[in-house]
Amino acid sequence: MSISVAIDGPSGAGKSTLARRLAAEMGFVYVDTGAMYRSIGLFALESGIDPHDAAGVEALLPQIHLEARPVPGGQQMLLNGRDVTDQVRREEVGMAASAVSALPAVRAFLLDKQRQMAASQNVLMDGRDIGTVVLPGATVKIFLTAAPQARALRRQKELEAKGQPRPYGEVLADVLQRDEQDSSRAAAPLRQAEDAVRLDTTYLDFEESFARLREIICRRAGL
Ligand code: C5P
Repeated sequence: MSISVAIDGPSGAGKSTLARRLAAEMGFVYVDTGAMYRSIGLFALESGIDPHDAAGVEALLPQIHLEARPVPGGQQMLLNGRDVTDQVRREEVGMAASAVSALPAVRAFLLDKQRQMAASQNVLMDGRDIGTVVLPGATVKIFLTAAPQARALRRQKELEAKGQPRPYGEVLADVLQRDEQDSSRAAAPLRQAEDAVRLDTTYLDFEESFARLREIICRRAGL
C-alpha cells in the first residue's frame, strides 16, 4: 500500500516550497496539481480562448495531453510534450488557471490523472481539494494556512526579490480576491477536510513551518 499525503490550503501559505523539500527528504514523489490547472490555463491563452468561456475551454480538452513528471527537487510539467514548467508560473497564467479550475469539466479531466499518480507510489500532493475530493482516503491530510496579511507580505518579498516590486495594498487585494474565488466556487471549493490537521504558519518562519509539517506527517503516517 502506498502512502499519500494531501496538502491543501490557500495561495501563498508556503505549500509548494515546503512540500517540495519534504518530498525530497522523505523520498516521496511531489505532485503539484496547481501546475496542471496552470497548463490548461496556458493552453487556453495560447489558443485564443477566454479561460472563463466554459464551452470554449471544454472543447480544447481532447487536444490536451499532460504529463507531470517527477524530477529531483520537484516536478517537470509537460504540455503536449513541451516543457512548460517555468512558463506556467507567470502571473497571467495563474489568473487563467484560477478561471479554468472553476469549470467542472476541467476538474473531471484532471481527477483520474491525479488519482492514478497516487495509486502506485508514495506521494505528497499539493492543491486545494486533495483531501476533500481527489484523495479522500489519504494517509495524512494537512490544511496549511496563514493570515492573508502574512501571505501578502511573503508574496511582496518574493516579487521584490524577482525585481518586480508591487505595493503591499495591491498584493493583499490580489490575495483576498484569489481566496474568495477559490473558496466560493461551486466545484470543489477550497475548504479544510474534517480529518485534516490544520497548520497555521502566520507566526512561523520557513524552518519552523518545515519542522512542524514534518513532525505531523511522520507521526500520522507512522514513519
Ligand atoms: O497552487 P497554484 O497557485 O499553482 O494553483 C493555481 C490555481 O489552480 C489556483 O488559483 C486554484 O484556483 C487552482 N487549483 C485548484 N485545485 C487544485 C490546485 C489548484 O483549483 N488542486
